[in-house]
Amino acid sequence: MKEQLNSLRASTIKLVAEIVDPKALNETRTKILGRKGELTAILRGLKDVPIEERSAVGQLANEIKTELETEFDRKETRLREDLERAQLALESIDVTLPGRRTLLGRSHILNRVTQELVEVFSGLGFQLAEGPEVEIDYYNFEALNMPKNHPARDMQDTFYFSENVLLRTHTSPVQIRTMEKRQPPVRVICPGKVYRRDADVTHSPMFMQIEGLWVDKRVSFSDLKGVLTAFTRDYFGEKLGLRFRPSFFPFTEPSAEVDIQCVICGGSGCRTCSFTGWLEILGAGMVDPALYKFVNYDPEIYSGFAFGLGIERVAMLKYGIPDIRLFYENDIRFLSQF
Ligand SMILES: [Zn+2]
Repeated sequence: MKEQLNSLRASTIKLVAEIVDPKALNETRTKILGRKGELTAILRGLKDVPIEERSAVGQLANEIKTELETEFDRKETRLREDLERAQLALESIDVTLPGRRTLLGRSHILNRVTQELVEVFSGLGFQLAEGPEVEIDYYNFEALNMPKNHPARDMQDTFYFSENVLLRTHTSPVQIRTMEKRQPPVRVICPGKVYRRDADVTHSPMFMQIEGLWVDKRVSFSDLKGVLTAFTRDYFGEKLGLRFRPSFFPFTEPSAEVDIQCVICGGSGCRTCSFTGWLEILGAGMVDPALYKFVNYDPEIYSGFAFGLGIERVAMLKYGIPDIRLFYENDIRFLSQF
């Protein structure tokens, strides 16, 4: 019987050493040490052992039982630790991975250009003035010498909230709003979004303008030329010439469209300027005296000029951007270049 016990001990130790699965370990423990297990089966033979040996055999059986239980416990702990280690390896943080960079935002190119333009005109003595994008008919058309049914309104069809409330079609209403509020001298620059019912390759229903107004005693057309020349040289470069072509705006008289020598080819002719050497950049003129009656200025005392330019146009020329739609597509590959 001693041999049976020792043999069970040896075979169990060998078996436990080979087990890699906690469930199999548990089943083996029941099979050997359980109430109906192999050890119990051997001990049933104890009654046949001579009485003088019985206590020694019983003691051996107890020692082996304790030893095997310890063996099972130790193995169980080992397997649990292995499992935990494996899980930890799967879930652990790899501190050598590079971190994720936070993308820093930046001003939109059109806001940057607006800021640049405001700075240039500030240097020429202009103050910033702003007005609402939702405008009333009176400021957008009427007080700018465009009564109802004026044909010039056709070119500035816009979005209406009601018959008299609309999205402004230009920044010119700010001229009227500013002059209403103060007496000359008035020298302001007014940037902002404007809206027209246009959408095609070269027109966006929303775009940006910047408007300048200078009204004072004895302001003349030569002052207009001086300011625009100073602006062009400051913003686009020293050598570029300006060209004034007669034009018509309802709120200026005389009016002119102003071209600058092509910023790409310097005037020799290229695709951007359609081989003319000139680029149309803004509209300008002397404030029509008819406007002064809306704001109670005396046209016998005061005169002034106004000009307006498209900010997208300026940005395209300054930074060589080929397509106006790029500004509003929100493509980060485009926007992050500026
Ligand atoms: Zn050119």
